[in-house]
Amino acid sequence: MTEIKKRLSTIVQQIRDAEQQAGRPEGSVKLLAVSKTWPAERLRQLAEAGQQAFGENYLQEALDKIEQLADLSIEWHFIGPIQSNKTRDIAGHFQWVHSVDRLKIAQRLNDQRDPSAAPLNICIQINIDEEDTKSGIAADELNALVTAILPLKQLKLRGLMIIPAQHDSDEQQRQSFQKARALFEQLKTLAPDVDTLSMGMSGDMPIAIQEGSTMVRIGTALFGERNRQIS
Ligand SMILES: *Cc1c(COP(=O)(O)O)cnc(C)c1O
Repeated sequence: MTEIKKRLSTIVQQIRDAEQQAGRPEGSVKLLAVSKTWPAERLRQLAEAGQQAFGENYLQEALDKIEQLADLSIEWHFIGPIQSNKTRDIAGHFQWVHSVDRLKIAQRLNDQRDPSAAPLNICIQINIDEEDTKSGIAADELNALVTAILPLKQLKLRGLMIIPAQHDSDEQQRQSFQKARALFEQLKTLAPDVDTLSMGMSGDMPIAIQEGSTMVRIGTALFGERNRQIS
């Protein structure tokens, strides 16, 4: 087995173990492979090992890889900050967007999505620890944004995405995830079909799963340290 295949099976096993310890059904947590900075060839190896969903942060880098890997049936997720002049390419080339954080972006994605294609799956990003440096809406803005997004027919609201602050203790980390979980439950009263709570990265995956994550976004633990940039 190649190194990357070993890492994939280790992560999948860790997810299954965390599901079981949390008393959650097997398969209730999906793995998104976060492949920013890694060349298309590494993604291909992982896709050939069975990984289907890949997350990218930088649009131009992602478009290059999408083209190079067009022969594979990869599900592409955009997870980076979104500038409004980038929405057309995002709407045209991705199946998911995790980082919707304002109505203008949602409207543009909706208007630019091909109506004959499947609706674009979106998550609303919440700035759960109210950090100045992070994207995402404040918790008390959620209901208004959801109400405005639900009528947009080319979008399918799937849930929430959060990136917690770096906390010193597991307990503080857990509290960020618990806040997100509570908001997710609140969201279900407005949008009963939502099914995705995108939280948990290489450093905090088991806690995120214990606290209700349905999709973990894993980069470093799969691909290694991002010590170099491509482009
Ligand atoms: C880079 C990134 C990840 C993956 O982080 P790792 O710590 O490498 O697992 C997850 N989510 C987002 C939004 C990212 O930008």
